[in-house]
Amino acid sequence: MTSTAYLSLGSNLDDRLLYLREAVQLLHGDQHIEVSDISSLYETDPVGYTNQGNFLNIVVELKTTYTAEQLLSVCQSIENTLGRKRVIRWGPRTVDLDILLFNHENIETDDLSVPHPRMHERAFVIIPLVEIEPNIQLPTSGQSFNEILERIPDKEGVRLWKRKNGEDVFEHLES
Ligand code: ATP
Ligand code: CA
Ligand code: CA
Repeated sequence: MTSTAYLSLGSNLDDRLLYLREAVQLLHGDQHIEVSDISSLYETDPVGYTNQGNFLNIVVELKTTYTAEQLLSVCQSIENTLGRKRVIRWGPRTVDLDILLFNHENIETDDLSVPHPRMHERAFVIIPLVEIEPNIQLPTSGQSFNEILERIPDKEGVRLWKRKNGEDVFEHLES
């Protein structure tokens, strides 16, 4: 069975665009994953732990024959491949991959919560998500992400950095 998932990717160390590009390439290079859409790139002031550099963030849509748990372990192995070290909670990272949505499922295990429990308070997640899928809704309440976005206070902390451009899904990730 093919599932549709949305992931949030963020980087705030070294060559941020390169990390995002490599993470997307590793996802797309997996034979069980097809990256079907990528949002514009957004630059984001850090939240949670603010003494660190700005992030580049994207949301990607993918089709996959993996389960959500299998997709999480792919995300974690990409983070490891790209050299992520967990030092400070919400601190600097080469790359972070979070599963936002997996079909319309609600998943609650020790390792995985979907929809991502903090996504509805994060402009850097909702702005790129609504950009690529304007009609999308939260599975639990049916609330639209456009409505959720209206209620988020810190939207000015998220700025368009490089616009998604035309037919080629990957074009704006090239340098
Ligand atoms: P946040 O989750 O607030 O964005 P973070 O991304 O910095 O913080 P991590 O250290 O990357 O947190 O992840 C901590 C744990 O979160 C992971 O080990 C993973 O098991 C768990 N987790 C739960 N739900 C998800 C999800 N939807 N996507 C990714 N990881 C998740
Ligand atoms: Ca995260
Ligand atoms: Ca994470």
